[in-house]
Amino acid sequence: MIKKNKALSKNQKLVLDFIQRNKKPVKAYSILSSVQKKGIKAPPQVYRALDKLIEMGKIHRIESQNSFVACNTSECETPHATAFSICSDCDKVSEINDSKLFKFLLDFRDNNGVKFAGYNLEFFGVCKSCEQIQKV
Ligand SMILES: [Zn+2]
Ligand SMILES: [Zn+2]
Repeated sequence: MIKKNKALSKNQKLVLDFIQRNKKPVKAYSILSSVQKKGIKAPPQVYRALDKLIEMGKIHRIESQNSFVACNTSECETPHATAFSICSDCDKVSEINDSKLFKFLLDFRDNNGVKFAGYNLEFFGVCKSCEQIQKV
């Protein structure tokens, strides 16, 4: 098991802080411009911090948006197995925490019988509040 409460470096803390303060996923360039004001000048430093935070399960990458979001479960043990629902209207992203789905994926094999160590799923649809707006 990965130890989660390992001390974060100063850069990692700054980056994580910024991502956690945002309700929506943030793009790399907005992370960059925010932390530059706080002294991280070089983009590679930011990308390294992002990689580490993903590895630790503190944040996740939303591939389709190329953005980053804070993990909303403090116990996320699965940095390489994530699932998100994404609203195609307002871009709201929620982390999916469905034990049935995870159990299914854990045993999932493809047609050649290959088992997989990770996945990065994104489900697209219209969120509840956008659905309500459309009905009015
Ligand atoms: Zn998570
Ligand atoms: Zn929406």
